[in-house]
Amino acid sequence: MQAKRDQDFFWEGIDRGELLAQKCDACATLRHPPAARCAACGSDEWSAVPLSGEGRILAFIDSVHPSRRDENSRCVCLVDLPEGLRMVSSLIDPENAVNGAAVRFEIADYDGQMLPLIRTVEAGQ
Ligand SMILES: [Zn+2]
Repeated sequence: MQAKRDQDFFWEGIDRGELLAQKCDACATLRHPPAARCAACGSDEWSAVPLSGEGRILAFIDSVHPSRRDENSRCVCLVDLPEGLRMVSSLIDPENAVNGAAVRFEIADYDGQMLPLIRTVEAGQ
């Protein structure tokens, strides 16, 4: 059996429909992207905890494939999460891309791979 990589728990969670992050068992600091040790205290003990799945667009780019320029571009966003973490994800509705927009994660099948994508949400939704 192949040894587990730091990020395996994250993708196993996505396959179950859960958006997870690591929480240090020693000092309770959340972290993402996945890492073997806590950057705050150095502990290698951690637990996977669910995230709210909400966030706000901090920045975004229109990403074009370098060798397949005719394909549709992707709107790749840096998302600020209320838990104090940041994640990178693709926006499902790029026409609504604006810095500060509220978004919600949606775990969706993309070519047979489950991915955490984001969609903007109206105020009050
Ligand atoms: Zn820690």
